[in-house]
Amino acid sequence: MRATFDRLKDAAGPNGFTEDAREIAPYLEEWRGRAHGKSALLLRPATTEQVSAILAICHETGTPIVPQGGNTGLVGGQIPLHGEVLLSLGRLNRIRHLDAPGMTLTAEAGVTLKQAQDAASAAHLLFPLTLGSEGSCTIGGNISTNAGGNHVLRYGMMRALVLGLEVVLADGRVLPMLKSLHKDNTGYDLKQIFIGAEGTLGIVTAASLKLFPQPVQMTTAFTALPSPSAALSLLGHMQTSTGGLLSSFELISRQTLELVLRHIPGTRDPLSAAAPWYVLMEISGGAGANLEALTQSALEEAMAQDLVTDAVVAQNQAQARSFWHMRESMSEAEKREGVSIKHDISVPVASIPAFIAEATAAVVARFPGARPVCFGHMGDGNLHFNFNAPPGQDTAFAEEWDEVQLTVHDIVKSYAGSISAEHGIGRLKRDLLPRYKSSEELDAMRALKAAFDPKNILNPGKTVPPVTRL
Ligand code: FAD
Ligand code: ZN
Repeated sequence: MRATFDRLKDAAGPNGFTEDAREIAPYLEEWRGRAHGKSALLLRPATTEQVSAILAICHETGTPIVPQGGNTGLVGGQIPLHGEVLLSLGRLNRIRHLDAPGMTLTAEAGVTLKQAQDAASAAHLLFPLTLGSEGSCTIGGNISTNAGGNHVLRYGMMRALVLGLEVVLADGRVLPMLKSLHKDNTGYDLKQIFIGAEGTLGIVTAASLKLFPQPVQMTTAFTALPSPSAALSLLGHMQTSTGGLLSSFELISRQTLELVLRHIPGTRDPLSAAAPWYVLMEISGGAGANLEALTQSALEEAMAQDLVTDAVVAQNQAQARSFWHMRESMSEAEKREGVSIKHDISVPVASIPAFIAEATAAVVARFPGARPVCFGHMGDGNLHFNFNAPPGQDTAFAEEWDEVQLTVHDIVKSYAGSISAEHGIGRLKRDLLPRYKSSEELDAMRALKAAFDPKNILNPGKTVPPVTRL
C-alpha cells in the first residue's frame, strides 16, 4: 500500500496530492449529508498525462479510485465510501479553446459550469446548461451525471451539448475523442458511453461543448394556476403561441413557494394572492418579434381560458433574477425545513397531472401529515417530488425513508417513468435499480463495466448493481 501511494503521489506531481485529514475532510461529505466517506489519499493532478499515469498505477496494483469534480452530486457517486483513493479533477481547469465561428468550447473537466458559461458569454455566445449548483459543479461532473437543469426543454441535457471527449481509461490509456464535429458516423459513438456513467467507465479529462447564439430577448413570467392539468394545457398553449421559444417551464407548488418565503432571506411572494400552483417560465429568442408583447398576449388568452389565474411578467433583469433565485433556493429551503424524502423522477409529460394526484394521495394516506414539496422541470416531465416530515416528526419520518420511496417509485414505474431523471444512480439509488430496470438492461450495463474496467477499480460499487442483489 505504502509503495503504491508513493508511486501515485509521484504521478500526481509535487502539488498534486495530500494525506492531511483536515484538507481531505471537505471532499468526503455529500452536500445533503447523506453520504460520508473516508480516504487516506487525495490526488489532485493538473494534466491529462498525470491522470493517465495515476490510472495506469491503479490498474496495475488493483487500487480502487473515485473521481470527483465539484462534489455537488446528490446520489453519493463522488464519495469514497470504502477508503478508496480520491481523484479530484479540480486542477484540470483550463479553457483550452473557444471557436466563436464554429460555436464550440473546449474545456477541461475541472472547469466549473459557471466558468464555461462566462467564457461563452464573453464571446457573445451561450452555453445553455443551467443548474442551481453552477458555481461549484464542473464540466466533468456535468458530463458524468448527464446533468439537466432549467433549459433542457430548449437545449437538451448535457449529452446533447457534448461534441467530443477526452477520456482516460481504467488502464491509463487515453481515448482521444476530442473532436468538435456535429456529424461523425465512424462506427460506435464511444463518447456516449462515458456520458452519464458516473465515473465508472473512465475519467473525463476534457470536452468539446456546443455553444449557441445568445438570445437577443428574454422574457420571464411567474404565473398562478389552479392545477397541474392547467399547467399541462398552458405548456402546449405557450409552445404554440411563441412558436417554440419557451426555454424553461418550471412547475412549483404553493407549499414549495412557502418554504422559500419562510427560509430564504429577502424573498417575497411575486403575486398578491396565494394560488395552489405556479409556473415560472422563460421565453427567449431572436430580434424579430416583441417577446414581451407576445408573452403578455399569450398569457391573456390563457387567463381567458382559466388556465392562469394571475401572472407577472418581469419588468427588468433584477426582477427576473429574483424569480429564478426563488426557484434555485428550493432545495436549500427544503433542507432548512428539516427531514425531506426526495425523488428525482420523470414520467411522460402528459402524465404529470395524474402522477402528482396519485402519488401525493398514496404517500399522504400511508404517512399521514407528510408534507408534499413538488417542483421541477415540468416541460421535461421531470419533477422533484419530495415530502417533508410532519412537523416535529423528523426522526420518525426519516425511518420511513425506504417505504416512502417505494410508494413513490412503484407509481413512477406504473407510468413507465424513471426513478432518476437527472441526478444519476451513484450509491444511494444503486440497490433500487433491479426493481425498476430490466435484468437484460442490467446485464448489458454489467458487460460494459467489465469490458471497460475489468479490475473494477473505477468508482467500484457505484451505479451498477451487483448480480447477487437481484
Ligand atoms: P461530482 O458531484 O463531483 O461528481 C458526480 C459524479 O460524477 C460522481 O459519480 C463522480 O465520481 C463523477 N465524476 C465527476 N467528475 C468526473 C470526471 N471528470 N470523470 C469521470 N467521472 C467524474 N443536477 C441536475 O442535473 N439538475 C439540477 O437542476 C441540479 N441542481 C442542483 C442544485 C443544487 C443546489 C445541488 C447541490 C446539486 C444540483 N444538481 C443538479 C446535482 C449536481 O450539481 C450535478 O449532478 C452536477 O452535474 C455534478 O457535478 P460535480 O462536478 O459537482 O460532480
Ligand atoms: Zn432539477
